[in-house]
Amino acid sequence: MKTIENFNLQTRIGRYKARKNGFDIPLQKPGIKQPDFWTRLEIKDKKECWPWKESLNKDGYGRIRLNGIQKMAHRIAYELHTGKNIDNFVLMHICDNPSCCNPNHMVVGTHADNQADKYKKNRQAKGEKNGQSLLTENQVIEARKKYKPRVVTYKMLADEYGVCKDTIQKAIRGINWRYL
Ligand SMILES: [Zn+2]
Repeated sequence: MKTIENFNLQTRIGRYKARKNGFDIPLQKPGIKQPDFWTRLEIKDKKECWPWKESLNKDGYGRIRLNGIQKMAHRIAYELHTGKNIDNFVLMHICDNPSCCNPNHMVVGTHADNQADKYKKNRQAKGEKNGQSLLTENQVIEARKKYKPRVVTYKMLADEYGVCKDTIQKAIRGINWRYL
């Protein structure tokens, strides 16, 4: 069986062949030239974590030097993968693995979301169940389409997604998830 090492990911054709062989190698987005980036991760398959193979900062996040500036590897992975600029947003790991650079394991949020998420995890760690969970990007997009004042209410959608009314209201009104 072929492994990721069989492909030269530095070249377009190598990445193309790797994709053909079932590896989830993201397409390079125009404007960002980091052909070797994906080779610096331990990519096993699409679902698992992709740990950064090089140096980590004190919190366990992968470090990468780009044009002389120290950046976080998982953020670069997300930007390369999605082509979005997330400079003004926080990027949260849903896998709770700071060195992971699998873009499918990250959600973009606001600083407020991040605080709420930390608070929630802290509470869960203490064994309290508060019935709140973070929405995914797709759920937010979906909820915005479903919402109809007085017909499909915030309360109904909150129940459907298992979050509190305030969370869904902020997501739908764009107070959170503004970039979507
Ligand atoms: Zn992960």
